[in-house]
Amino acid sequence: MGKYNDNRRANIPSKNTKKDSFNKVNNGVFVYTQTMSVGELAKELDINVNEIIKFLFLEKKMMVTINQTLDDETIGLICLQFGFDFKKEKIVSEENFEEVEIIDKPEDLLPRAPVVTIMGHVDHGKTTLIDAIRNSHLVDTEVGGISQAIGAYQKEINGQKITFLDTPGHEAFTAMRSRGASVTDIVVLVVAADDGVMPQTIEAINHAKAAKVPIIVAINKIDKPGADPERIKSELMNYDIIAEEYGGSNICLEISAKKNIGIKELLESILLVAEMQELKANPNRYAIGTVIEANLDKGEGPKATLLVENGTLNFQDYVVVGTAYGKIRRMTNEHKKILKEAKPSTPCVVIGLSEVPNAGDKFMAFPTEKQAKDIALKRALAKKQNEQSSQAQASLEKIFSKIHDSNGEVQEVNIVLKADTTGSAEAVKASLDKLSNDQVKINVIHSSAGAITESDIMLAQASGAIIYGFNVRPTSNITQKADQAGVEIHLHRIIYDLINEMEDAIKGMYKKEKVEQVLGQAEVRSLIKISKIGTVAGSYVTSGLIKAGSLVRVLRNGVIVYEGKLNSLKRFKDDVKEVKEGFECGMTIENFNDIKELDIIEAYEMVEAE
Ligand code: GDP
Repeated sequence: MGKYNDNRRANIPSKNTKKDSFNKVNNGVFVYTQTMSVGELAKELDINVNEIIKFLFLEKKMMVTINQTLDDETIGLICLQFGFDFKKEKIVSEENFEEVEIIDKPEDLLPRAPVVTIMGHVDHGKTTLIDAIRNSHLVDTEVGGISQAIGAYQKEINGQKITFLDTPGHEAFTAMRSRGASVTDIVVLVVAADDGVMPQTIEAINHAKAAKVPIIVAINKIDKPGADPERIKSELMNYDIIAEEYGGSNICLEISAKKNIGIKELLESILLVAEMQELKANPNRYAIGTVIEANLDKGEGPKATLLVENGTLNFQDYVVVGTAYGKIRRMTNEHKKILKEAKPSTPCVVIGLSEVPNAGDKFMAFPTEKQAKDIALKRALAKKQNEQSSQAQASLEKIFSKIHDSNGEVQEVNIVLKADTTGSAEAVKASLDKLSNDQVKINVIHSSAGAITESDIMLAQASGAIIYGFNVRPTSNITQKADQAGVEIHLHRIIYDLINEMEDAIKGMYKKEKVEQVLGQAEVRSLIKISKIGTVAGSYVTSGLIKAGSLVRVLRNGVIVYEGKLNSLKRFKDDVKEVKEGFECGMTIENFNDIKELDIIEAYEMVEAE
């Protein structure tokens, strides 16, 4: 059997690839890539480990040992305490291939089949539609075998393939998304023509919108006497789903899953929408994709349905998935037909993994067993470390500090809102919508009446949202699930309180434009070098004033040679808060000793613009 071409290497962008972790102190900033123990941090920062242990014990009431792994927050606290700024950098490598954005050359890309999920309210006909599509004999070339439910299947129409994920309902879709897997390209929303828009229809719309996936509406059961497709279309308008015939962008089709009416048109519409999306992938690389379903087969061991998203998966490839790895010993399609290879958008059932993976896990194929094994081991280790220092995904504080750090870009805050009645849900949503401004966009991605459910938690987790509960209380089971998922739940009984909380968070934390205000300048007249302290600049304040702790820049012949912060400001031997024009002072600058006589030290501060 021919082996791989050279250019079929596991192709991770090499630009940012940093194979091993690296930590370094640079200009007073401690840059690190992964959590570490107390001992390791002490070494990196070149401080005595006992100082750290003492600080944590006395100031933070934390008892730690030298080998204990620190979380990011504590690493930050320690850095600040010992005079370092800090920054965590992500390493992009083969170990976290989920996060690698694969960049293929345009000429390597070929069209691929769309991946479709069918969603809708219970009893509106999802299962019937899935069966109708599966059993429709649109082409006779389809070769035999008894079809088996593997979680996904492909259908061919007009010579083009469509991949369907056949777990009905949005639970599967959201469960996938909450694991970071967004494999669906198009959502088919089933609405029963004799029933109308129902709670799960709305949820499905919100899920699809949050995932930014186009929606095709299949108005089902048009064979029924009470069917009223026009009413459905007008109801859907309330949710921004506007049929093409009304000037909108959503294809709405009338179908009967039971009587096989409109199925072909539906499939053709899917191809049409797919064509507009220009879905492409590079078949000439090692495969990367997602686990759709997995179970432990009594006879064959771990068995998984994989959806290849990019690249080609080959029989006997070495695959890493989650923290497991293995060699593909058998690969079949939904008709139990043996496959030698699976190209992009192809679902396949594989045998040969060492463990049962989770649905939603990403997988990647590698050229050698050694590489797959090493990577799986490293991932297992990283997972363990992450679990030890796990943190909430979205919290008000975090979201708003993100806003604070952003450079003027609009930050979106996603909210899932649950209230006691539809009326109050609408009222709260309207008030929240009003809080958006040109820096913060409050996005209520889902709001409805009723208790906080697991599906809400999954949606919040998938979209980094906060859950707001208005006059509802979660059960302890739900609270626990939210904790595990790192989803924050805020509960309120008074609209005013809820809005105030959000408003305060925005006001308190968001980045107001800052402008620089010069405080004053001083001329360096003499230099005193003191070991341990560094160079003290004996200076004369020529204008304005110099404040302790202010930001400074050092000017030499009018050129900025350094920008930083004042470390100490003294008059004679005493620390002082400020020194005015016409007085002398001694200054040291943080991390900068290269001061020269006649340098100008300019002090300034950043103030919020009016
Ligand atoms: P699901 O809960 O959305 O998966 O809905 P099902 O596919 O189980 O369908 C619920 C019920 O509606 C079943 O009794 C189906 O036979 C019936 N049904 C589904 N599609 C149609 C249709 O097009 N016409 C009629 N008359 N009944 C349908």
